[in-house]
Amino acid sequence: MLLVYRYRVKSLTGLLGRQARACNFVWNFCNDTQLQALKWNKRWPSGFDLNRLTAGSSKQLALHAGTINAVCEQYVKSRRQRNRPWLRWRGRRSLGWVPLKGRDLKREGEAFRFAGHTFRVFHSRPLPQGKIRDGTNFCCDARGNWFLNIVVEVAEAQTRPVHSGIGIDLGLKDFAALSTGEKIENPRHLRQMAEKLAAAQRAHKRRQARNIYARIAHARRDFQHKLSMRLVRDFDYIAVGNVNAAGLAKTRLAKSVLDAGWSSFRGMLRYKAMAHGAWYEEVNESFSSRVCSSCAGETGPKGVADLGIRSWICSECGVSHDRDINSARNILFRSGHRTPAEGISTL
Ligand SMILES: [Zn+2]
Repeated sequence: MLLVYRYRVKSLTGLLGRQARACNFVWNFCNDTQLQALKWNKRWPSGFDLNRLTAGSSKQLALHAGTINAVCEQYVKSRRQRNRPWLRWRGRRSLGWVPLKGRDLKREGEAFRFAGHTFRVFHSRPLPQGKIRDGTNFCCDARGNWFLNIVVEVAEAQTRPVHSGIGIDLGLKDFAALSTGEKIENPRHLRQMAEKLAAAQRAHKRRQARNIYARIAHARRDFQHKLSMRLVRDFDYIAVGNVNAAGLAKTRLAKSVLDAGWSSFRGMLRYKAMAHGAWYEEVNESFSSRVCSSCAGETGPKGVADLGIRSWICSECGVSHDRDINSARNILFRSGHRTPAEGISTL
């Protein structure tokens, strides 16, 4: 299993800035080559072709040869993924990026050695043993901080026996409702920062807005890491609704949907579950708020029109439900592991 570990770099950032500009140059060369191929109706260059064309430019560009190769290969990969004949040019406004080949990065105590330089990092967590893979890169955020993202291959944990399971309904009002009856609010400081961000944007304070935005992204990631870690530690089986942010984002709910960052949270749950031997499943959650989790009658509120109804009483069995927690329970029932529900005595 591949995991990405992210460390803030605290030395040689000037060097990285220069290397990032050279990487942009390589990227734009790839783009140019691609445009020439289009213009003359030639075969589109592959990563291998671009590697051959850039061979020997390492000294002139003051870049590690592996980095040049990684840029060329990423160019072709991005072009295919986005299904575009060519891509955007990288320039002064692009965020700094220096990819490298996994084999070129070496551990050196709490620092890392790459291309003859030692990069010191804020060693926030130990890097697990395992092979460092391609895809590893240095990148710069909007605030100008450099990070080292290390892709490392770790062994998958043995799956543990299923004793307890949990259903999670991701939402707009609260961040998540759990089938245990717990509700997890969006962290308050995130909301406060979002208000500050809006104020800064209205006042056209670009630099301030950028800083606040980076802080929000950091705080949200931190919140999601802690929550997903807690769930994976406490439960052997995790079922999450497949609510689709991209589909909802076209409506006016867009802002809060995007803020909630469901897909990044599901990603964290998935890989943490894999790393710790828990089960993870995404469950189709359509009608999950309509169906009563006690008697399975379709007595609940209907769709987007009744989104305002937060709690209701089932007209068939008389149990009162919180809308989101009822959904979370249905999500757990629909998952492949129905049996652990028996262990949840509150149902
Ligand atoms: Zn009922």
